Amino acid sequence: MYTDLERKVAVITGGSKGIGNAIATRFGQEKMAVVVNYNSDPVGAQKAADQVIANGGKAVIVQANVSTEEGNQALLQAALDNFGDLDVWVNNAGMEIKSATHELSLDAWNKVVSIDQTGVFLGSKTALAYFKAHNKKGNIINMSSVHERIPWPTFASYAAAKGGVKLFTQTIAMEYAKDGIRVNAIGPGAINTPINAKKFADKAQYDQTVSMVPMNRIGTPEEVAAGAAWLASDESSYVTGITLFIDGGMTLYPAFKDGQG
Ligand code: NAD
Repeated sequence: MYTDLERKVAVITGGSKGIGNAIATRFGQEKMAVVVNYNSDPVGAQKAADQVIANGGKAVIVQANVSTEEGNQALLQAALDNFGDLDVWVNNAGMEIKSATHELSLDAWNKVVSIDQTGVFLGSKTALAYFKAHNKKGNIINMSSVHERIPWPTFASYAAAKGGVKLFTQTIAMEYAKDGIRVNAIGPGAINTPINAKKFADKAQYDQTVSMVPMNRIGTPEEVAAGAAWLASDESSYVTGITLFIDGGMTLYPAFKDGQG
């Protein structure tokens, strides 16, 4: 628990399930006030909000598409209307589309990039404008992936978007460091969330994924949420512009794990 987080106000995009849901729940344990964004699943978002409140925090749910400027403005407005301020903005919403790149439609490319990369830009821009206007030492956390570093054939749009998130995060971290605004990314590895449900339901694919993790297991959304809480808190007060990999060692070239090479 980080006592400085108590009563701080956070926006979490894509909070209706998976990692976003776990971050909302964790922020509730930290007694924060949380705007839980969802795009199409109000029931999941309400469950997340109920958990925040049960844990001692406050919460509202807000429908918004993160790939639009109006959507991000609505999230900021909800934070101000309900809780009177904004301290932490988590750009978590994301999706992926599998396709051989020579068959990937422009629509599919644009969809992934508009949520995974443009959504991060628009959310960050909205938060930064508020922090600047109110002279606030705010905090932004962008959900990247191990695929900001590891190429991922048949997921070129996703890897390109996450690679973009990495340098966007580093760039705005540098641009606003003098204002006391911190911006970091999280790079999850293989985490047990709905995005992976189909893959992990297949034992062969599950085992294959585990074999790429030196720690020999899939991660939990709560383990990612723990990193988000640390980055949001003053315990990480001298940290900006990093990607915190939460990946069981997946970025450590696991093919070498038994001394090969
Ligand atoms: P998930 O599919 O469970 O959740 C994604 C969330 O984003 C959902 O709530 C979804 O509704 C929301 N979303 C999608 N499009 C949206 C839009 N246009 N506007 C608002 N919300 C939208 O996936 P997850 O695993 O919880 O992923 C969360 C983030 O973590 C994503 O950015 C993902 O790329 C990243 N990530 C996940 C893993 C993993 O293994 N699960 C690994 C690396 C990175």
